[in-house]
Amino acid sequence: MASGALRNTSKLGLSSLKWPRTMFPQSRAFSAHLTETQCAVQDMTRKFTEEYLKPKAGQLDLNGRFPFEPIKKLTDLGLMGATASEDNGGMGLDYLSLAVAIEELSRGCASTGMILAIHNFLYVNLVNERGTYEQKERFLNNFTNGGRIGCFALSEPEAGSDVANIKTTATSDGDYWVLNGKKSWVTSGVEGSATVVFATCDPALRHKGLACFLVPLDAEGVFRGKKESLMGVRASTACDLTLAEVRIPKNNLVGEVGEGFRIAMAQLDQARVGIAAHAVGIAQAALDTAINYAKERVAFGKCLTRLPSVKDRLTDMCILIESARLLTYRAATQVSTKNSAMAKYVAGKNAALVADHCVQILGGRGLSTNYPAERHYRDARGTQIYGGVTDIQKRLVGHYLLKENDAL
Ligand SMILES: Cc1cc2nc3c(=O)[nH]c(=O)nc-3n(C[C@H](O)[C@H](O)[C@H](O)COP(=O)(O)OP(=O)(O)OC[C@H]3O[C@@H](n4cnc5c(N)ncnc54)[C@H](O)[C@@H]3O)c2cc1C
Repeated sequence: MASGALRNTSKLGLSSLKWPRTMFPQSRAFSAHLTETQCAVQDMTRKFTEEYLKPKAGQLDLNGRFPFEPIKKLTDLGLMGATASEDNGGMGLDYLSLAVAIEELSRGCASTGMILAIHNFLYVNLVNERGTYEQKERFLNNFTNGGRIGCFALSEPEAGSDVANIKTTATSDGDYWVLNGKKSWVTSGVEGSATVVFATCDPALRHKGLACFLVPLDAEGVFRGKKESLMGVRASTACDLTLAEVRIPKNNLVGEVGEGFRIAMAQLDQARVGIAAHAVGIAQAALDTAINYAKERVAFGKCLTRLPSVKDRLTDMCILIESARLLTYRAATQVSTKNSAMAKYVAGKNAALVADHCVQILGGRGLSTNYPAERHYRDARGTQIYGGVTDIQKRLVGHYLLKENDAL
């Protein structure tokens, strides 16, 4: 399908709903039902995925090739600025619409869904919600509808889960901040045009010394490492970034010095909704694969679907997906640390279980790269790691559970 046709379809389909110019409220009473707008986003992304993205996913994964064309088409559809304000070239959608889009895209190509999730939830939304007018002019408008990709550089070789241990420094020098350090695992770091960087202005203060900066990736002193070779989401890229005496203007600071930790954690609360939706999409793809195969495959004179153990596995898959989806939709409408952590915890674990059932149902073919089951299995695993490891999500849920009950 030509991109023009997609653009027209989306514009017609979505603009006819006449949503208000102001952004949708991000918090409303949770309902399992999607609104008319959310259904339209779901229909549009499902059609895009089925007709265009899914047929490409196997080759993109096999060759570890970044999905440039799909991302270009998603830009044309407006989804690279899904929840950004219309004044900055975004669509002004709510988080659940974005989560639904990520789920549908990940159902076709997990790498594309993940790239969209990180770009929107960890870069675009941060600049949209916290940036100054001038920062939005420089670091948002071209990223919502101009084809540029944004990144989030928090992790370091010695600071993954332990964010307070960040070693990258920011030193004030006249009208500039000077950044030095090394970041790891920066998604889209190879292709991106700019990134948010978290650095310490006073290491002795640990997390209270952190600040958030906007850094163009072509700035002098920024060196991009090689693309990591990944087990799953192989068409996405993650790389190191070395920052050597990188001078950025003072007004590239987002918020205040000392606010970096709070900004990063709030953004991760949003991103976990995105990664949970991504996990639900991968799990749904695994169930689709398993059902289609089981309907056709005959063993002991009947279709696999007639075998009680296969039917049991398919039923388990359905329940695992539906429970993860409901938690994800709830977290998208009521973003909080507890809701997001619970959704990501359940969606990541369930995706891995569902993908494992899928491989089993395909038998020997489940291990063959000629079938998508093994790709879903590899793609599912990472959803328990990036965006915050499962172990910590569980601890966060426990913390808030006890806090709510005055039991800390
Ligand atoms: C494909 C990919 C893309 C990524 N993209 C980005 C990105 O765009 N930007 C970015 O900043 N980072 C990114 N990351 C980094 C990712 O967020 C980290 O890998 C993750 O937070 C875990 O950090 P770590 O790898 O250092 O593991 P560690 O923190 O060393 O943890 C290893 C293990 O130790 C255990 N553990 C550690 N701490 C605790 C604890 N407090 N409680 C219980 N168990 C614990 C867990 O079992 C955990 O799995 C990406 C990673 C991958 C693999």
